[in-house]
Amino acid sequence: MWTDVNTGKLKTNCTVCGAETDAKVGNKYYTKCSSCGRRERGSIRPPLNNSLVEMGRNDFRNGVKRVPALSKNLLNYIGSNNKEIGTALPSIKAWIKGWDAENLKRKK
Ligand SMILES: [Zn+2]
Repeated sequence: MWTDVNTGKLKTNCTVCGAETDAKVGNKYYTKCSSCGRRERGSIRPPLNNSLVEMGRNDFRNGVKRVPALSKNLLNYIGSNNKEIGTALPSIKAWIKGWDAENLKRKK
């Protein structure tokens, strides 16, 4: 799957005929090939937010433990960007990824 640079729409190739099709995105994506009519669906992972990965790295350097709830930076971010219940998990995962990456770097 990729993003069409002109329209900003997500695109995928039909697995039957190879034609480009639009993907509808929620937690899952749905496609219907405009050429042969083949329908497909699958799950989609939102890309990691790099500024949150960086935040995790910085928090590690500043001595914050590997506990997302102890990071004031992360809590602030979630408080203003993930207000809806159940939307904070991708942010937390990105933060942990950054924290772990920095931790591994130190161990080498
Ligand atoms: Zn097709």
